[in-house]
Amino acid sequence: MSWQLRVKDKFQAAHFLKEYQGKCEKVHGHTFQVEAVVEVSELDRAGIGIDFTRLKAKLAEVLPDHTLLNDVYPFNPSAENLAREFFGQLKKHFPVIEVTVWESEDACATYSEDH
Ligand SMILES: [Zn+2]
Repeated sequence: MSWQLRVKDKFQAAHFLKEYQGKCEKVHGHTFQVEAVVEVSELDRAGIGIDFTRLKAKLAEVLPDHTLLNDVYPFNPSAENLAREFFGQLKKHFPVIEVTVWESEDACATYSEDH
């Protein structure tokens, strides 16, 4: 028996991609949408797995809003790498099973690990 809880948030940031040829090699911005999924197998007496408020607060804390992502991280800030980074940070606090980063309305990358 398990439940998957899902929270979403957005952040705005600029980036450019090294080792890449195309539109994304020059500095530009996105409104990134991030979706985190956590899995729980028990509920508390109120019928709640993990309070959405706590999940959302932590998610908001790890998102690098209004930054130049290339200055914030040592890696190339692709949606794939960002998803792995946010997963790692959230994993310290919650049983996260996957993180999806939407770079635009119709393109996203999902990161997960075997569990
Ligand atoms: Zn881009």
